[in-house]
Amino acid sequence: MNKIFETPLYAYERSPDQDTATPVRHKVIVVGAGPVGLTAAIDLAQQGVGVVVLDDNDKVSFGSRAICFSQRTLDIADRLGCGNPMAETGVQWEAGKVFFDDRKVYEFDLLPEKGFSNPAFVNLQQYHLEEILVDRVRALQAEGAPIEIRGRNKVEAIGTHDDHVKLEVETPEGPYNVEADWLIASDGAHSPTRRMLGLDFDGRIFEDNFLIADVVMEADFPSERWFWFDPPFNRGQSALLHKQPDNVWRIDLQLGWDIDKEREKRPENVIPRLKAMLGEDVEFELEWVSIYTFQCRRMEKFRHGRVLFAGDSAHQVSPFGARGANSGIQDTDNLCWKLKLVIDGKAPELLLDSYSRERVQAADENITMSTRSTDFITPKSEMSRLLRDAVLDLSEKYEFARPLVNSGRLSAPCTYKGSSLSSADALNGPDITCPGSACPDAPLGDEFLLPKLAGKFTLLTIDAEAPERLEEGGIQATRLALSVKDDLTLELKRRYLGDADSAIYLIRPDQHVAARRDTFEENAFRQAMRRATGKE
Ligand SMILES: Cc1cc2nc3c(=O)[nH]c(=O)nc-3n(C[C@H](O)[C@H](O)[C@H](O)COP(=O)(O)OP(=O)(O)OC[C@H]3O[C@@H](n4cnc5c(N)ncnc54)[C@H](O)[C@@H]3O)c2cc1C
Repeated sequence: MNKIFETPLYAYERSPDQDTATPVRHKVIVVGAGPVGLTAAIDLAQQGVGVVVLDDNDKVSFGSRAICFSQRTLDIADRLGCGNPMAETGVQWEAGKVFFDDRKVYEFDLLPEKGFSNPAFVNLQQYHLEEILVDRVRALQAEGAPIEIRGRNKVEAIGTHDDHVKLEVETPEGPYNVEADWLIASDGAHSPTRRMLGLDFDGRIFEDNFLIADVVMEADFPSERWFWFDPPFNRGQSALLHKQPDNVWRIDLQLGWDIDKEREKRPENVIPRLKAMLGEDVEFELEWVSIYTFQCRRMEKFRHGRVLFAGDSAHQVSPFGARGANSGIQDTDNLCWKLKLVIDGKAPELLLDSYSRERVQAADENITMSTRSTDFITPKSEMSRLLRDAVLDLSEKYEFARPLVNSGRLSAPCTYKGSSLSSADALNGPDITCPGSACPDAPLGDEFLLPKLAGKFTLLTIDAEAPERLEEGGIQATRLALSVKDDLTLELKRRYLGDADSAIYLIRPDQHVAARRDTFEENAFRQAMRRATGKE
C-alpha cells in the first residue's frame, strides 16, 4: 500500500482545552479535515479569524477519491496560497476524446479560448491535495495565523444554542468539551453532525456499480480525458481513463447493478479486465481498487442557526463531472468572507442565509448536470439506449450531435442568478460577467486579473471614472482602474466590455459580480454594496 495512507499528517497532540474546568470558546470550529474543511480553515485564518479543525483521523483520506480539480478551484486555491503547488504537482489538461464501441467519435477542448492563468483542470490525487492544504496550514501557523488542526479528535455530540455551539470530543486520552461561536460541518457524506442534529438529506440513489482502479504504469497515453461508451473490453458498459501524477492512472469501469462486489474487487478478477483494456503486454501495479455506487442528494438548507454545512455533508453528486470536491471548495469560498463580516459585526447574520441560498442553487445545478450525465452514460430503458447510441453514431460525422453527447459535463462555477446579493444588470455587457457570475480571468500585461480581485470588494473600472475608495457601512470597495489604451487585452474586452464603451463592476471578495453599470453613480453603487452585504 502507498505509504501516504499510513503516515499521520496531523498526529494527535494534547490540547490545553482538554485541561480546563470550563469549556474554551473558539470563534470557529471546523469539523472534518477533508478538502472542504481545510480550505475553509485556511480561508478564515488568512482573514485573521481564529479557527480550530477537529478530525477523527490523522491521515489523508483513504483510497481512490477525487482527482480532477477545476480552473475555478485553482483560482480559489491561488487566493489561499495553494494554487502553485496544485498546478505544479498536478497533471494539467484541457482536452478529451470520446469513443463509441471501437471508434473515436470526437475530441473536445474545454478551453478553446486562451488567456487564463490556470489550466482548465489539473488531475491530482485527493491525498496530494490534502497534503498541500495541510502544508499551507503549517505555513500559516509558522506566520502566527490563528489556525489549529487536531487529529484523532472525534466529535461525539453537539449542543446548539442561540449564540454558540457546544461539542463533546473524544480523543485517545479521553473526552473533553469545547465551544464555538460558529461551527462549520464539513464532516463528509455520512456527516455525524447532520445526524446528531436530526437533519434530512434527500435525493436519488443510482443503481449502478463502478470499479475504480488506480494503477501505476509507464504509459504514453496523452494527458487527456478518455471516455468510452460500450467498448469491446467492457461490453454494454462505459469506461474512463485519466492520468494522475507519479505515473498513476485512474481507470473507471462501469460494472452494472447486479454484481458480487467482493468478488469483483479481487485482483484475479480486476487484472484481466484491465489487461483487456490496456493490452495483454502492458505492465502495471494496482495501487488501489474499490467499487462505488453513488447518490445525488442535498440538505434542504445549509445553515442551521450557528451550524453551517459545506461540502459532501451538505450535498452529494455522481462523480461524472468532477463536481464533488470542486463544489465543496466553492461552498467555502462563498461562506468565509460572509462569516468574517458577520463575526466583525459589519454585516447582519442574515448574510449567512444567502450562503445557504446561493450554494443550494449551485448544488441543484450540480445535481441536475451530473444526473443528466449519469442518465446518458447508463440509460435506464432499451429505448433510451437506442437513442443514446444513435446520438453517438451521429456525433462521429455531424457537429450538431456532439453537444448531445454527455460523458460528464465538467465542473463549472455557478452563476447566482436572481441572488438577493446582486443588483439588476445595468450594463449592455457580456453574459459571462453578468451579476452573480464568477469573474473569468484575463491577462493584464505580464500579470492576470483575478489575483487583483481576491479577498476584498473591488470596483473594477474600464475606461470609467470612479473614486479610489467607496465605503458603505464600514465596508470598503477599492478601485482597480483599467483603460483601453494601457491594459485592455482582447480577452479582457471580450469578457468584461463586449459592445459597451466603458464599464464599472462591483466585485465581491469571492470574485463574483455583485453589480455592473457603464458609469459611476454613487447611490446605485452604495445600494449595491448594501445588497451585497445582506443589508437590503
Ligand atoms: C471515486 C470518486 C471519485 C471522485 N472524483 C472527484 C473528482 O474528480 N473531483 C471532485 O471534485 N470530486 C470528486 N469526488 C468527490 C470528492 O471525493 C468529495 O466530494 C470530497 O472528498 C468531499 O470533501 P469533504 O471535505 O466535504 O468531505 P470528506 O473528504 O469526506 O472529509 C470529511 C472529513 O470529516 C472527518 N470526520 C467525519 N466524522 C467526523 C467526526 N465525528 N469528528 C471529526 N471528524 C470527522 C473525516 O475523517 C474526514 O476527514 C470523487 C469521489 C469518489 C468516491
